[in-house]
Amino acid sequence: MIELRTPAEIEAMRPAGAFVASVLERLRDEIKVGVNLLELDSLAHRMIKERGAESCYIDYHPSFGAMPFGKVLCTSVNDAVLHGLPHDYVIQDGDVVSIDFAASVDGWVADSALTVVAGTPLDADLKLIATTERALEAGISQAVAGNKLGDISAAIGDVCEAAGYSVNLDFGGHGVGRTMHGDPHVPNNGRAGRGLKLKPGLVIAIEPWLLATTDQLYTDEDGWTLRSADGSRGAHSEHTVAITENGPLVLTQRSR
Ligand code: MG
Repeated sequence: MIELRTPAEIEAMRPAGAFVASVLERLRDEIKVGVNLLELDSLAHRMIKERGAESCYIDYHPSFGAMPFGKVLCTSVNDAVLHGLPHDYVIQDGDVVSIDFAASVDGWVADSALTVVAGTPLDADLKLIATTERALEAGISQAVAGNKLGDISAAIGDVCEAAGYSVNLDFGGHGVGRTMHGDPHVPNNGRAGRGLKLKPGLVIAIEPWLLATTDQLYTDEDGWTLRSADGSRGAHSEHTVAITENGPLVLTQRSR
């Protein structure tokens, strides 16, 4: 069921968005060679406690998960791209690190993700990351009342395909509200002018992700982490966006 939020409810979602943005800003500074993924998760956990927020991940146990997630952060490194379960791994020079974080503040959820390279980057990795960021911006620009959901999907897909990447349609964006995952599903490719008509009050996570040379995934033996079928690297960018009378409002906008 698609739920629309009143302007007052969207205002009430701002603190969750600001908190999620602040955690990602802090974590981005900590993604360095020599840092353990478990330290990143611990830092996010401390920030949740200090803020009085609630993790959307720690008890998350969907049908496809082998067990509750147990961590507050997704950390996906190199050939991992989504749902990366933080584990005892020390970041190496040139690693591509995606972090995805969702939390609830005052009963409202926000969800956002970013990807960075630790240490010395490869041009191919920077291109992959930049493409997901441009695709996210293109998707957000279409999150306008009166457009169709397919306009967002097509905008994302066009950017990815123009850069030479193939888009996976199994995992994409989603409605965000009192819980992390609601309707509608927001595919990362589609046909402009098709699908759900976008109305003010719709709040969605838009989240393009790409793999360098495949669009196929497999699940790691940890039961969560999704990795590329061919070992190529992945990147992921995500914001929570409210469609308003005044255009798209990026609730998880970072200040830097
Ligand atoms: Mg997310």
